[in-house]
Amino acid sequence: MTAPSRGRGRPALFNADAQQRYLEARAAGATQKDAAALVRVAANTIRYHRATDHAFREADDTAAACGRQARIDQLAHGETRYKHYGCRCTTCTKAATVGRTNRPSYNAKEARIIPISPTGQESSCSFPLARAS
Ligand SMILES: [Zn+2]
Repeated sequence: MTAPSRGRGRPALFNADAQQRYLEARAAGATQKDAAALVRVAANTIRYHRATDHAFREADDTAAACGRQARIDQLAHGETRYKHYGCRCTTCTKAATVGRTNRPSYNAKEARIIPISPTGQESSCSFPLARAS
């Protein structure tokens, strides 16, 4: 005869140990989905715990903020970092300037006019506004 098991039902997959590993992965910069996959739980499990466990939700938000900062720190200096994260170091500023001046829209001195009517069939002088547009 087997010994009676203690407790009922399936053991929780997302226990305190798994939650800790999840939060560490989030703080290191993993997305919610990737961190959930790391501890082998579904993204819905994370959402459920965020909705029902206030302390876990706060810890997850804090870890997510740390993770976002970690991702920004890992990002190489360049135009993206200048434009989206406000880095104004010499490398980023130079890259943004080069990127901006190489764009065709920046170098165009006047707007390019595209003829809308076929050549030889231009509109009469009674529609000067239509021609200019
Ligand atoms: Zn920079």
